[in-house]
Amino acid sequence: PVSTITELLAFSCRRYSHHPAFTHAGATLTYHELDRLSGLFSSYLLHHSCLVKGDRIALLLPNLLQFPVVFFGALRAGLVVVNINPQFTAYELQHQLNDSGAKAAVVLSNLTESLSEIIHFTELKEVIVTNVVDLHSPLVRCWSWLAGGWKQQQWEWGSSVTTTRLRKALKLGEAKAWQNINAAPDDLALLQYTGGTTGVSKGVMLQHRQLIANMQQINDVLKKVVIPGSEVVCAPLPIYHIYSLTFHCLVMLSRGSHMVLIPNPRDLDSFVAEFAKYPISIFAGLNTLFVSLCQHPAFIQLDFENLKLTFSGGAALTQSAARDWQAVTGCEILEGYGLTEASPVVSANRPYSVVSQTVGKPLRDTCVKILGEEGEVLTYGETGELWVKGPQVMQGYWKKPEDTRQVLLDGWLQTGDIARMDRQGNIRIVDRKKDMINVSGFAVYPNELEKVISCHPDVLECAAIGIPDDVVGEHIKLYVVSSNQRLSIRDVRDYCRERLTSYKVPRLVEFRRCLPHNAVGKVLRRQLREEEFSALQ
Ligand code: ATP
Repeated sequence: PVSTITELLAFSCRRYSHHPAFTHAGATLTYHELDRLSGLFSSYLLHHSCLVKGDRIALLLPNLLQFPVVFFGALRAGLVVVNINPQFTAYELQHQLNDSGAKAAVVLSNLTESLSEIIHFTELKEVIVTNVVDLHSPLVRCWSWLAGGWKQQQWEWGSSVTTTRLRKALKLGEAKAWQNINAAPDDLALLQYTGGTTGVSKGVMLQHRQLIANMQQINDVLKKVVIPGSEVVCAPLPIYHIYSLTFHCLVMLSRGSHMVLIPNPRDLDSFVAEFAKYPISIFAGLNTLFVSLCQHPAFIQLDFENLKLTFSGGAALTQSAARDWQAVTGCEILEGYGLTEASPVVSANRPYSVVSQTVGKPLRDTCVKILGEEGEVLTYGETGELWVKGPQVMQGYWKKPEDTRQVLLDGWLQTGDIARMDRQGNIRIVDRKKDMINVSGFAVYPNELEKVISCHPDVLECAAIGIPDDVVGEHIKLYVVSSNQRLSIRDVRDYCRERLTSYKVPRLVEFRRCLPHNAVGKVLRRQLREEEFSALQ
């Protein structure tokens, strides 16, 4: 039993010392090396940086070996990690740096442009730069990887900000005994910004206790199928996102698994080549990725003999994607549901007892209720807003007491998602409340349409939004990505008409080559709405 992330790391590194922990582009860190390098980084932070316990440190890193080293090192130094998408624009970056008040940032040398633009409008005192010459070149040893290929570069952020190379930081850390600050379970571990799929992203305060609780709850679901010290896990989703972070860096790490980090899942050819090299037994993805992989000629030829568990979360899984994935890999997808505010997992299907098109039952110690418009508690089969209570629920939003009060009531978290539950306790997520389309007073949920239409054999992906309409309030516009150029608007509408009530049939259909996605791969309906509104004006 562990109660903090630092204890978890110590436990796994002791128990699985010589097992591989993380691999990226051919270079591997064992659990022992992870312990050593994160210890050195923590010593550096404690003895040489301006940071003190409770300070925030921003990580702007994609999936590579530096991530776990720096992540665990920062927690071992008692700091609060702020995960930031390294591809953010200067504007987005400035918001998260300033909102979190981060004093230091760890950044890749080739992704510093946005940071340079805004660094003087932030509270950053130190930037730790790490270098990657070529993310895909095979590297020999982890040390040369972390140190490797450094070119002299001048950073243009002036004298008020210290620049340290990660290599130097680790060397400086080596001169001191490794030291940990013993975090308490109630200490803040993460300031994890919500995806921003629906609006401005907010910093979710997650304590060690909440993240560890979620890790234990998920382990409870998996304990009979995950073999300690034996699993090879493919990690394609960015670990700066909570889904991938909790799953890989906490749950899978606690079982001594070997994580194969994929830096960019959109580069499908490299991804498939990497996947083919390892006996992958566990895979956590989401709908968009399953769809793309099942279309990839080299992927569908692979041998999936070792694959025994596939997870989907973060966005609705369509029946067609689940079916195709199972046909290609022979492995059933376990769909789960969660949100950043719940560390993130709330419910999940259990291995070998999947209830299709549901997100399964709530995890251990998790209570859920579904409330109607007037706040009345609804019963089985009725549709309303989902509320959640459990040890994984956040402490609140960072510096936003009013927003916190609006979503946290007596320990219950208002999820903003519409759901219903069957008599066996399986939850169906209908959609986000904010994405509901109001057609002549009838509620239409885009997910429902999208799930129906994505069953069309020529439809790869689709998204529905509401367009303001003087007569009916809103009408529906559907965006379709198709594999068949001959598919017509009429075909799509006919397909809908055969399967949906007339008010749910989209009035407008537009074909696109691709849809906008966020960094994890969720379709951004918000962006489609914005495009539509700017075209109307
Ligand atoms: P923001 O809250 O800033 O708008 P976001 O909602 O994308 O961004 P996350 O915490 O990453 O932030 O995502 C949680 C949301 O993802 C949930 O509230 C829910 O709407 C959606 N979601 C997660 N899992 C599923 C699922 N299995 N099916 C349908 N929707 C899901």
